[in-house]
Amino acid sequence: MLDLPEHDNDNDNDEITEAAFLALGLDPALVEVLDELGYETPSPIQAESIPSLIAGRDVLGQAATGTGKTAAFGLPMLQRLAESGRRDERRPFGLVLAPTRELAMQVNDAITKYGSKIGARVLAVYGGAPIGPQLGQLKRGVDVVVATPGRAIDLMNRGALALDALEVVVLDEADEMLDMGFAEDIETILQATPADRQAVLFSATMPRRIELLAREYMREPVMVRIAREEVPEGEAPRVRQTAYMVPRTHTTTALGRILELERPTAAIVFCRTRADVDAVTETLTGRGLRAEALHGGMDQEHRTRVVERLRNGRTDLLVATDVAARGLDIEQLSHVVNHDVPKSPEAYVHRIGRVGRAGREGVAITLVPSGAIRHLRNIERLIGKSVPVAPVPTVDDLKAARLERTRVQLREQIVTDLRQDADADVDGVGAMVESLMGEFDPADVAAAAVRLARTGSTSPDDDVEIPTFNAPRGGADRGASRGGRPDRLGGRGQGPRPPREGATRLFVSAGRAAGVRPQDIVGALANESRLSGRDIGAIQIHERHSLVEIPEHAADDVLRSMRGVTTLKGRRANIRRDRAAN
Ligand code: AMP
Repeated sequence: MLDLPEHDNDNDNDEITEAAFLALGLDPALVEVLDELGYETPSPIQAESIPSLIAGRDVLGQAATGTGKTAAFGLPMLQRLAESGRRDERRPFGLVLAPTRELAMQVNDAITKYGSKIGARVLAVYGGAPIGPQLGQLKRGVDVVVATPGRAIDLMNRGALALDALEVVVLDEADEMLDMGFAEDIETILQATPADRQAVLFSATMPRRIELLAREYMREPVMVRIAREEVPEGEAPRVRQTAYMVPRTHTTTALGRILELERPTAAIVFCRTRADVDAVTETLTGRGLRAEALHGGMDQEHRTRVVERLRNGRTDLLVATDVAARGLDIEQLSHVVNHDVPKSPEAYVHRIGRVGRAGREGVAITLVPSGAIRHLRNIERLIGKSVPVAPVPTVDDLKAARLERTRVQLREQIVTDLRQDADADVDGVGAMVESLMGEFDPADVAAAAVRLARTGSTSPDDDVEIPTFNAPRGGADRGASRGGRPDRLGGRGQGPRPPREGATRLFVSAGRAAGVRPQDIVGALANESRLSGRDIGAIQIHERHSLVEIPEHAADDVLRSMRGVTTLKGRRANIRRDRAAN
């Protein structure tokens, strides 16, 4: 019999939960948190990795997001931390490297949660956020650091991040990090860690570069491979649903911020009244988002034109009343946004049924003023699960996101410029910059240029925090991520699907960060190969890459005619078979 720790068990399931996780060798203090989070059984990647990791082995795992990999590496790391008996140690015990700020924050949230009962000090450090507070926290002492590679190097160079006492290093989404050009940074970081530390590497794909990295820096790793979860034929694709608790007077402002961070490629924003439609459209347009109104007061011709503009990508957001949007079926739709919670739960289900078609990722965002919480509860009862609540972006989030976007755009521009003939200064910009450099510090010239390019995309209330409130949870919320960030792909088991029968998936090296939308991919393929729009299947736009399904029999021909490159949003992007899918 397992020796179960005491706490208020409310049903038999808790015991089953605990037994399954305890059997993997996890500490009761960690298992208690999992129980509270509503995790019932270990996911396959957890069952396979946790025992080896607790035993101190290196693990090389192939698993995509949504498989539960964060807990798979996070829990054993926390357990080993608890067992290490460290006291007053300032230097980190564990380091997790993640490709993006988003993922770093997500991993940080998860590990903080998992480690809450053992008093783990967890810190996320990433570019685009002020470095001062990160320096301060590191100085006070941190057990686990979750970092993007660039910021980790920066902090190491400043002597703030010491890796000489490190016991565990994790590379999360290693393939993404290599694709983003972090190979050198990663090696520098790994070389700064002690030779006998444990190394864990997770990657959705296992290209040769990853194998080489593992061979160089890991010791006889245990290999763990988890197949992607199949979505059965005919099953409705799942939609990532998120609610934001915001006082009614702030819903429109909050929506502007959320959409600025979320950057949908094609969305319908549902409003209750025509007046709301106009006000919301104005606010969103004022933020530099491409939004257009659709309501019954417009004549049919005008309405058709607006819908057409969303379809062909000339606008991103359609702000509409339920009535005006009735019967609208827009294939490319990525997001459904509820400026108000619909009173009837069926209307909600109907609205969100418009996204997530044909294997595409769908997102549903709902703003919930306190008076509408009961409507949300009714919806949760109808759909049989709770809608996770996410925090409204803060002023800092907004600033960090804008900086990060600027950084990505700058990097892309720099790389594009470098690829072109550097001597050919056709537009004279090079010479102009040279002359300014003679007069000012190059860093000041660059900063001024960036500020100049960024003007105009802000809103007057960008410096005001939006108040929020905590709603009491109803009965349907077991296992919900309370107040946490929304899951990237809507929770467990919703990782990328395999391509459909007879289709293959292509990888395109440009995504949301470059402003790519599904229609751009369709356009590029249709222009540059013999494919027609009808041949093109599911399209997924990720932050820095996109995936598109095309018929297998046409793939070689397409790749040959495009010679591995295409032009998206005026920039070159590589196109090849997706290694993860083929
Ligand atoms: P990840 O693949 O780490 O991004 O995890 C995806 C989602 O699955 C997260 O929302 C986790 O909270 C959730 N999750 C992880 N492990 C389990 C589990 N054993 N049972 C239920 N949910 C889980």
